[in-house]
Amino acid sequence: MSEQGLSNLMHEERHFDPPEELARNANVTAEAYAEADKDRLSFWGRQAERITWAEPFTEVLDWSNPPFAKWFVGGKLNASYNCVDRHVEAGNGERVAFHWVGEPEGDTRDVTYAALKDEVCQAANALTELGVEAGDRVAIYMPMIPETVVAMLACARIGAPHIVVFGGFSSQALVDRIQDCDARVVITADGGYRRGSAAGLKPAVDEALEHCPGVRSVLVVKRTGQDVGWTEGRDVWWEDMVGKQSTEHAPQAFDAEHPLYVMYTSGTTGKPKGILHTTGGYLVGTSYTHWAVFDLKDDDVFWTAADIGWVTGHSYIVYGPLANGATSVMFEGTPDTPHKGIWWELIEKYKVTILYCAPTAIRTFMKWGKEFPEKADLSSLRLLGSVGESINPEAYMWYREVIGGSRCPIVDTWWQTETGQIMVSPLPGVTSGKPGSAMKALPGISAKVVDDVGTPVGNGEGGYLVLTEPWPAMLRTIYGDDERFKDTYWSRFENMYFAGDGAKLDEDGDIWLLGRVDDVMNVSGHRLSTTEIESALVSHPKVAEAAVVGAKDEDTGQAVCAFVILRDSAGDGGKDIVEELRAHVAKEIGKIARPRQIMVVPELPKTRSGKIMRRLLKDVAEHREVGDVTTLADSTVMNLISDNLKEDSSAGDD
Ligand code: ATP
Ligand code: MG
Repeated sequence: MSEQGLSNLMHEERHFDPPEELARNANVTAEAYAEADKDRLSFWGRQAERITWAEPFTEVLDWSNPPFAKWFVGGKLNASYNCVDRHVEAGNGERVAFHWVGEPEGDTRDVTYAALKDEVCQAANALTELGVEAGDRVAIYMPMIPETVVAMLACARIGAPHIVVFGGFSSQALVDRIQDCDARVVITADGGYRRGSAAGLKPAVDEALEHCPGVRSVLVVKRTGQDVGWTEGRDVWWEDMVGKQSTEHAPQAFDAEHPLYVMYTSGTTGKPKGILHTTGGYLVGTSYTHWAVFDLKDDDVFWTAADIGWVTGHSYIVYGPLANGATSVMFEGTPDTPHKGIWWELIEKYKVTILYCAPTAIRTFMKWGKEFPEKADLSSLRLLGSVGESINPEAYMWYREVIGGSRCPIVDTWWQTETGQIMVSPLPGVTSGKPGSAMKALPGISAKVVDDVGTPVGNGEGGYLVLTEPWPAMLRTIYGDDERFKDTYWSRFENMYFAGDGAKLDEDGDIWLLGRVDDVMNVSGHRLSTTEIESALVSHPKVAEAAVVGAKDEDTGQAVCAFVILRDSAGDGGKDIVEELRAHVAKEIGKIARPRQIMVVPELPKTRSGKIMRRLLKDVAEHREVGDVTTLADSTVMNLISDNLKEDSSAGDD
């Protein structure tokens, strides 16, 4: 007998059809689904024509040894050639690849494809001079500057897998990652700008390398000009080493399955996993989805407002957009530096047409209020995207109306570090948007929602999101640990990749992500997921953000505990705020979901990619010592929360 899946609590009536003109000119039409269903592998074989192959592949997929896939067997290519050289050769060298905006005011650079190519060639020559060979791992610990993209592409050019470590991570995180993948060279900067001041990066590298004797060279970009320690024989300035090199470099063709990079997952649930991506399938998957999901046109100005140090940056700042020859905005700063209207100013300045960001950013903007975006002209926007967590229907509507002027479709894209490419998302010219739903698996992707024993659930039922067929940009393994790869993703259900996320199908069969199964609460025998209760809280006009967790409860097994951040306009929420919110949840989605406890907090613990770390909140709710916080964006947040709870009477049980 199968166990009950997840409860389906929420019901959504609103939906928005694709704008007519967009639908008429869309890159992808409804036929793509049928085409891919008919013959999935030849569908992907055709998408692979987007890429320039030095040698053609002879087979689309070798799946003879699952779960170890080989895509585009026999094909050879160079990823950096595909991202830069071929656009220059096609006469598009003067096209801007990046409108880069640094954090200090006025610090901007437009990088053309021709300039990018020259710098990538120089950096590739420099790495070669430093003795880096194909297969050597290179760690990149950098701020959001053009040199970071150059470094990644230079590695790809010479076949050296890169490991980008988010520039805000501690020295310890760097040690863990360098050791895990045995990197030999580190590319870094003296420092980077964060919230108006220069923060050191090189000191963290120096500290880390005391524990990483295998690293023989450190290439240092001068960004802030601050004083840095120097180890002769190991450290070299980027300017000296890269600047002197020739701008010519013949790209070598690598096997389609040659490793492109290792990226560590965000660490929302636990110890980050080193996800290995290879070259051919990854480029096909990211360039196709970037073109299809964002309906990319020649004159678009695309902006993924995320950090390069997580997978969204890899796939949709670097590889997808560059493979497609797109023009992007790249921004070093945070949304409130130098002021809370900076994003909207940049959209107006560069006439951004497509904005892709995380729900956490949208909820933060909601918290601040619409007066900031209203100051700018956002009429250039034609499409909006969301990634990283479920977008609460309230946040979706705010994004749609305030940012998108009610004319831009929203693509809510579900994917993971592991999937490499967008997997579940509306197609903007085909699929209607529903606030809160990621809708459908993309053409060529097979996603299902199944129950406890792997049987597909019916419409209106909840369960687990699985992928039932391999896809081009899929991870190939966890770096150095094939067993962990099998255990983590392929052991829960037979012949299916289990993503770790709960989901439901609505009455129309559309997919709604419900949060991680690790976070599912069992309240009096009902299996409740986090997302719907959080969305119910966010739909209250005083609430900007919410996180719920299950805490042990003598009567019900587990009880729902909620942490909420109020909108600025709500002040302290008033003395009845807790009761008001409990009643609101009961009314919106039912009494069973009504939180036992609601705590108003100033901040929530988030990963660097903006995801709420519920396991830490669970520690708080169950009065335990807070667990591992190394992947937290701001390690002081947990103190802020516990201090706040000590002095706040609204934290008590009812
Ligand atoms: P770890 O696996 O180390 O805990 P992580 O899962 O947070 O870290 P990522 O690969 O960056 O690391 O995030 C992928 C996860 O983000 C998905 O499994 C899902 O939980 C969530 N996610 C991403 N996009 C969406 C979306 N559109 N809707 C709902 N959830 C999403
Ligand atoms: Mg994950």
